[in-house]
Formats: sequence, structure tokens, C-alpha cells
Amino acid sequence: MDISDVLTRLRDFTDERDWAQFHTPRNLVLALVGEVGELAELVQWRTDDEVRALARTAEGREALSDELADVFTYLVSVADAVGIDLDEAVHAKITKNAAKYPPELSRGSNAKYTELGTRDAQPS
Ligand SMILES: [Mg+2]
Repeated sequence: MDISDVLTRLRDFTDERDWAQFHTPRNLVLALVGEVGELAELVQWRTDDEVRALARTAEGREALSDELADVFTYLVSVADAVGIDLDEAVHAKITKNAAKYPPELSRGSNAKYTELGTRDAQPS
């Protein structure tokens, strides 16, 4: 997926409706949180197996897809509103995480990076 294409479509969508006036960083973060809540609502009170089964139904798959897309589009919009290149940010963070969680210390462990090697590995 090309994030810049998504961003172009989102900007066009917003401009066509004159909604940029509402799309402040704070409002967009709150909208993002709301969409994460809608995604969470789809999985709450269900087991992991039930969530996977939900994703195999047409209706459940559409609902999950819609909320994942809502979360992603608001995430892209927040980054745009504060002038952060999300593609660069994601790659930079993966690089940081790789340094924080070296495979030789973190494989099979759910320990936080500050506790790697200080306690027994827990199955993740
Ligand atoms: Mg939604």
C-alpha cells in the first residue's frame, strides 16, 4: 500500500467537504481513539477463536475491515496534521524496536526490553 495515495484521497475527501477546519491534531487523535474503541467493541467478550471465526464470515469480515480502515485512515490523518511522514516513522520505529529487542535476548520472551535477560522467558 502506498500511504501517499491514501493521504491524497483523504485530503481530497476532506477538502470536498470543507472539513479541514475540524481536523485539528487533537480532534483527529480523539477520532482515532474512538475508532480503536469501535474495533475493540467487535472483539470484546469473544475468545481469540471466536474473533478468527468472525473474520471468516462475510458480515464480520466487513465490520473488522471497516474499523481497521477507520483506524488506519485516522492514523494517517494525525500524522499528516502534525507533519510526520508515517512511512518514515514506521520504518524508524521498527529499526528502534529491533535494537531494543535483539533476537538473542528476546526470542520466545514476552519481557519488556528493560527486563530482557533479567527473568525467565515467558511464552508469548
Ligand atoms: Mg468506525
